[in-house]
Amino acid sequence: MGYEQSVGPMRLARIRSEANIAAYRSDGARLPVIGAAVVAVVYFLAAKLGEALAFPSAPVSALWAPNAILFAVLLLTPLRHWWLYLLAVLPLHVMAQLPVSPIEQVAIQYVLNCAESMLGAAALLWLESQPQRFAKLSTMANLIVLGSLVAPFITSAAMAGAFTALNLTDEFWLTTIARTITNTFATMTLVPLIAHCANALATGNFRVHWNRAPEVLLITACLVITGALVFILPGEHHERFPALLYAPIPLLLFATVRFGIIGAAGSVLTLGALATWGVLHDAGPFIDPVPVHNALSLVLFLNVTCAPLLLLAAVMQERKEAAAALRRSEVLHRSVLASLQDQVAVVDSAGIVIEINESWRRARERAHFQVIALLPGDNCLEATLGVAESGDPIGSQVRDALEGVLSGDRPRCELEFSSSHHGQMRWFELSIEPLRRPERGAVIILSDVTARIRAELEVQEQQQQLAHLARVAVLGEFSGAIAHEIRQPLAAMLTNAEAGALLMAAEQVDVESVREILNDIIADSVRAAQVVQRLRSMLRKVQPHRRPVQLNDVVQESLMLARIDLALRGVFASVKLDSSLPCVPGDRVQIQQVILNLIVNACQAMADVPPEAKRLTLSTRWLQGSHEVELAVADGGEGIDEAQLEKIFQPFVTTKEKGLGLGLSISRSIIGAHAGRLWAENARIGTGAVFHLTLPSGDREPLVDGWPLTVGSLSVEPSRGKEKFTAER
Ligand code: ADP
Repeated sequence: MGYEQSVGPMRLARIRSEANIAAYRSDGARLPVIGAAVVAVVYFLAAKLGEALAFPSAPVSALWAPNAILFAVLLLTPLRHWWLYLLAVLPLHVMAQLPVSPIEQVAIQYVLNCAESMLGAAALLWLESQPQRFAKLSTMANLIVLGSLVAPFITSAAMAGAFTALNLTDEFWLTTIARTITNTFATMTLVPLIAHCANALATGNFRVHWNRAPEVLLITACLVITGALVFILPGEHHERFPALLYAPIPLLLFATVRFGIIGAAGSVLTLGALATWGVLHDAGPFIDPVPVHNALSLVLFLNVTCAPLLLLAAVMQERKEAAAALRRSEVLHRSVLASLQDQVAVVDSAGIVIEINESWRRARERAHFQVIALLPGDNCLEATLGVAESGDPIGSQVRDALEGVLSGDRPRCELEFSSSHHGQMRWFELSIEPLRRPERGAVIILSDVTARIRAELEVQEQQQQLAHLARVAVLGEFSGAIAHEIRQPLAAMLTNAEAGALLMAAEQVDVESVREILNDIIADSVRAAQVVQRLRSMLRKVQPHRRPVQLNDVVQESLMLARIDLALRGVFASVKLDSSLPCVPGDRVQIQQVILNLIVNACQAMADVPPEAKRLTLSTRWLQGSHEVELAVADGGEGIDEAQLEKIFQPFVTTKEKGLGLGLSISRSIIGAHAGRLWAENARIGTGAVFHLTLPSGDREPLVDGWPLTVGSLSVEPSRGKEKFTAER
């Protein structure tokens, strides 16, 4: 694939135009001397033309172009090169003017001509971002007002003042007005014409459309004929039909509409040439006996005709560019939509689908979800109502979410749901984003998140297995004590059975004693069975199951399991249970696993402390303010190094020879999944560590975040203003 193909035509055009601008700028910098020489020659020729078009007995020329040419050049060249162009025109100005004017007049004209061009160009460059293109109404308006009226008026007044002071003229106002309007016409027509063409050439956008040549010729011909009729007809016709002056207007408008700035400026210049010829030959509408009045009337007429045409051309150019930008952004927007893997649909404020992307169109054929079958023009709200009525809960959820986003009640919405297709389970995430525009609307994005959910489920499965292994490991710590706890009732049963056998062997059987013995055996076997039952529930591999749990009960049960071990280790355990404690939603087995883990760690931490320090305290309390219940497990061990207080919750952090460093990290995951917290601190009084465990009490909805994932519940994250529903189908 060639470079041009790989970058795409639009981008290529941009790169080309940028390269052209850069080349043009660097050329301008490299060859300013040649440029200045060319400008000087053109300036000279324009001055000569201006003289040729001067009206006899009037200080007015139909087209005084040198200042306008200099203005356009300054607009197109970098500021640092201005001096070169201004200097280059000096000798040519002297050459053109000295034969007809005294030296001081030539000098004043040169200085004020340069000042006029500089003032106009500086004003446009300062006020507009890319004035060279004349593609904005404001640029054209600034050119007309500041560049063509204000700058010429200031310099003309200065020139007239200087001439009056030097006795070169006694007509201050006539000189001022005549020079102003003469320069106005040239600046208005020539500056945008030159700048527009030069800019188009430099950026590579200048193209001659030969197929439009007949149109140009036809308009020119019509304009010349009409202009000739209007301006070359003897004056008496105009006295009879003054409206004749308006005859060229439709043609001027047509030229402007068809050819923009070039059409407007070109047609007015053509008309100006014909009108000048008419005035010079005492024909046309300007036939006042005072020649200067004719000249002024003509130039004024041209100015007044030209200004609105140029403004119209600028408005059209602005519209054209805005439409092109809109088209480009639409193309971009469609390409972005088409490139998305997710299915995307855009709906208006009434829920009518206004656009769908390719992925959505393709997904219609294997629609897992009825809403995806929608096409532009279909009503999404009605479709979701249909889904809901067919008994699918996701229908009403999508409807509620869409209505909420469309009405502005919800900032955005995300829904997760699963669907079985040909016996295969797939998971989807549907997000609804509002369209930030006055007419409102929303974007519906449906993504297939099966791969992600499968990975999450796999991780969850592995974590559950790990937690189970950790549970088995914790119980392993109690194996000696548990064996003892089972052996004790078994031994008692054996002794009782032997005693019973002896009683039965006697001649006279003491039935009452045998009954007592049998009752003891039953009680012992129940005790042994309870121990086994407790072990079974801890060892069984079951899915986490949430239901209301009384933390006090779990603490007591855990102590029951651990009591023999505690006794064997010489640890004195005490409990302080808050009887007002409410139930918490949670998995009993998992919470018990955490408590046992804390008890084992506490016992191990107290292995080497004197017997009187081996104290373990488990206390519970209800933190009503924060809607939490708390369990604190305090021991009389050495405590924990302050720097390690957080680190011990990381996996594989252990100080024990045979430790794995997983107990606390798994415990924190379990408590985190219950939306609780687990942390450690050192005892404030005496020695030892205190582990705190909090769980949200049932009066607040728990957050589902972290592990293990719970499917089928509602979570609200107020901080992000985002609602997340998960639903199982
Ligand atoms: P393991 O018991 O396998 O080391 P844990 O994650 O349960 O793994 O504990 C990590 C570390 O935390 C322990 O090695 C120990 O250094 C420290 N620790 C835990 N409980 C206590 C405690 N009650 N007193 C002092 N240190 C403790």
